[in-house]
Parts: sequence; structure tokens; C-alpha cells
Amino acid sequence: MTDKNKLKIEWTFENSYCNLPSLFFTETLPELVPNPQLVIFNENLAEELGINSKDFMSNNDVEVLCGNKIPPSATPLAMAYCGHQFGHFTKLGDGRAILMGEHITPNGNRIDIQLKGSGRTTYSRGGDGKATLSSMLREYVMSEAMYCLGIPTTRSLAVVKTGEQIIRETVQTGAILTRTASSHLRVGTFAYAAKYGRFDDLKKLADYAISRHYPQIKDTVNPYISLLETVIDVQARLVSKWNLSGFIHGVLNTDNVTISGETIDYGPCAFMDDYAQSTVFSSIDRDGRYSYGNQATITQWNMARFAETLLPLIDENTDNSITIAENAVSKFPKIYNQYWLLGMCNKLGISHPMEGDEQLINSLLTLMEQYKSDFTNTFKSLTTKKYGGIKLFETEEFAHWKSDWNQRLEKQQSTTNEVETLMKKSNPAIIPRNYIVEEVLAQADLQENIQPLHEFLEALKEPYGYTEVQEKYSDLKDKPCTKHQTYCGT
Ligand code: AMP
Ligand code: MG
Repeated sequence: MTDKNKLKIEWTFENSYCNLPSLFFTETLPELVPNPQLVIFNENLAEELGINSKDFMSNNDVEVLCGNKIPPSATPLAMAYCGHQFGHFTKLGDGRAILMGEHITPNGNRIDIQLKGSGRTTYSRGGDGKATLSSMLREYVMSEAMYCLGIPTTRSLAVVKTGEQIIRETVQTGAILTRTASSHLRVGTFAYAAKYGRFDDLKKLADYAISRHYPQIKDTVNPYISLLETVIDVQARLVSKWNLSGFIHGVLNTDNVTISGETIDYGPCAFMDDYAQSTVFSSIDRDGRYSYGNQATITQWNMARFAETLLPLIDENTDNSITIAENAVSKFPKIYNQYWLLGMCNKLGISHPMEGDEQLINSLLTLMEQYKSDFTNTFKSLTTKKYGGIKLFETEEFAHWKSDWNQRLEKQQSTTNEVETLMKKSNPAIIPRNYIVEEVLAQADLQENIQPLHEFLEALKEPYGYTEVQEKYSDLKDKPCTKHQTYCGT
């Protein structure tokens, strides 16, 4: 703590979203909060953003992070969007988030700075516009873990307690998260343009998305087809990475699917413990629409909704547009499968997939499901060759599978060391297990003890490092229950 009045966070805002037609947003100020207190701040991210914060933090900075003080170059607004929620089309919009502006990093990257939980907006419907400390810390730890795993994601810069109590199932501590993203453009933003805008509005949005995320496709024969194909590709890649790490998003509605291919909205998400295709964590997902095994299919469905919004731009003739769009969306499974297969092969130390590999992988997954094997620890054990404590490894079926696997490995030119290195790069030694996440969050929220959260975040920093400290977070013995429900109690 040094000079209390000197602002350490100096945003270099250069805001482009507010130049879109006014239909896409509503200018809104964050609500004032009574007693803001910093709970956690992401020094690493701050450094990347170029907002030097070494001897953090003055009262003024906290005022900025909670929205009580508005930096001069900010243009606070709530974004408009729609969403297919559990398959049903709904008008939504930022009901509890304010886009403060787009910060330009020292590397020239344009990053959205958003406050989440900052009060009601015109899109709030019945909600209070607020967020709980526990859910914002949850988003912080999950998004940071995803980033460290190498999975594209929005990130979390800070969580500030507001000094308010907010009502959920119980009375909870109110908080605001500062979220960063390469943008908050979603499939739902396009759905909004298609439903409520004119042709020109949709075109402006598509051109904006292209220039912001994919400038390389601007001069292709038909940039809108290229946009569709590119988003299909980044989403296929993203969902493959989720599935390869056992991550279950939980609410894959189209308002939670970004154009950039970043994971967004950490609500009832979790990493799977025992491998099972049907795993669901969200208490509201009763039919398992967003289960682990459905994530790729649902993402293709979401891409079909995206394609529909682009139809007027693809071709003047609607029938032609539909044919082109259907063709692009139909390629999703193949694209996804290529990413997934390569990723799964790498998890087994195989550098280049060949015929028969998919069968080898699927036999292992079938056994894992049958013997209720922990997803992360099984691959970790295959990597370290420490086979103790996992029932699957004691079975004859596994012995057969292992012999097939070894024969497959012998077919490639790699040394044992090279195989191990590839496996270590592909199989995390640590993931944010639900019961640990809940434990450290309870400490931070109810006991006001943030230290366990800091230690956990430190261990999550290098998930492929196989360090000793990560061992204590790999233990399943104390897991209170195998199926842990998380709630949208946000
Ligand atoms: P999510 O499930 O976080 O994707 O949110 C779906 C929609 O509900 C979005 O429009 C959110 O802005 C809105 N929403 C979620 N929680 C609240 C809240 N406490 N107050 C107002 N709107 C909310
Ligand atoms: Mg959302």
C-alpha cells in the first residue's frame, strides 16, 4: 500500500463495440456499492495486460474494480443478445454485467474489460443484477485453471466484495468479478441481430466480428462463409479440449458460446471425476442435455443456430444459403473428431494417429467407464506408470489393453523418454476437483481465509509440471461424494 490516491490501474481503453448500431447495447453505469474490499487480484494477468500493479493496491483501484469510479475513457454498457436456453429461444442481454471498455495491451491485443455482478441493467428481467462472492471466486479459479491447462477462456482479473448481502437460497456475500475476454461476442449476439435487426445491422456485426477476431478472412471470396467455417473450427477445437481434460461446461446455451472460441460463463461447470459419458453436474440439467458425452453434439447444434443467423449474408438466394450453411455445419463432427483423436493419441504417447488408434482409445474408455476410473488420475497413472490404487489396472482386461497399447507404441519411432514427455504435456497432474474447489471457496467465503485458495491456485499454475505439491490435490480418498452438484446460485 503506497499512495492511496494514485491510480495503479490505468486502462488504455479504445472502445469499438459502442460504434455498432445502438440496438446492440444500452449505455449503463454500474450500481454504486457501499463498502468495496479487494478479495483477490490476478498479478500475472495484470502484467500481461500491462497494468502494472506491483505494490497493489490503493483504495481508488478498488473503487475502479467495483465500478464506483469510472475511468475517463470508459464507455460502460450492457450488451444485448439472445440465447437458445436448453433449446428454447429467449431474449437475454447482460443482466448483471457491464462492459467498461476494450483495453489495448502493450502487445497491441484488444481485451474486453467487464464487471460481472455490478447491478441491474435494462436486460435484468427479474434478477437483482448481483453476484455472490462464492460464485465469482469459483469463476476466478475455474477460468484460471482452464487458462493454465491451455484451454481458450475468458479470464479473471479481480474479485471485490461489495459490502452488500444478497439473497439467494441463503443470505450471501455480494461480489463483483472483473472479467477479461478477447470479446464478449456470442452466437447469441448474432441471434439478436438476426431477430431484431435489419440486414445492415447483421452485416455490421459480422464485419465487426471478422475485423476483431479473424481479419485474415476479410478478403476471402465470401467472408461470411469463412466466418461460419472459422467459428465452427474454433468451437470444435474448444470442445475437443474440454473433453480431453474432462471439463463439463454445464450450460451450453447459445448465449454462452463465443465467436472467439473462448470458454465463457463458469456457472455449474466442473471437471469429471469417474469417467462416464452421462456425467452432469448442473442441478438444472435434468435430461442431461449438456452432459459430458453430449458436449460435441450440442456444440454442433449451436453452430447450426449460428449458421441460421448468417443466412441473409451468405447468399441472396435463401436456398443456396441453406445448402452452403448445412454443408459447413455437417463438417463439424469430422473436424471435432480430428482434434479429439490427435489429443487422445497424445494422451497415450502416440504422436501421429493411425488406423486402429480410435479403437484402442475407445476400448480404454469403455474399461474406464466400466471400472469407474477417475479420468484425470487414470491418464496420470498411465503417464507416470504408477499403477497403484486404481481398480481398473488390476484387471485382466486392462492387461490385454496395455499389451495392445505397448505394441502400438512400438510401431512409432519415439524413445521411451519422448513418449513420456508427450504424455506429460497432454495429461494434467492436477485439475480443479470439485470437492477441493468447494472447500477452498468455503474457507474464503465463510471463514474469510483466502490462503487455501491462493495455495490451490499456485498448484494449478503448471498442471503439466508433475510437482510434489500437486499430489495433495490428486487424492480421491476424502471425496465426499462422487456426483457433486453445482448450482446456478449465482
Ligand atoms: P447465464 O446463465 O449466466 O448465462 O445467464 C443467463 C442470463 O441471465 C443472462 O442474461 C444473465 O445476464 C442473466 N442473469 C443471471 N443472473 C442474473 C442476476 N442475478 N440478475 C440479473 N440477470 C441475471
Ligand atoms: Mg451467459
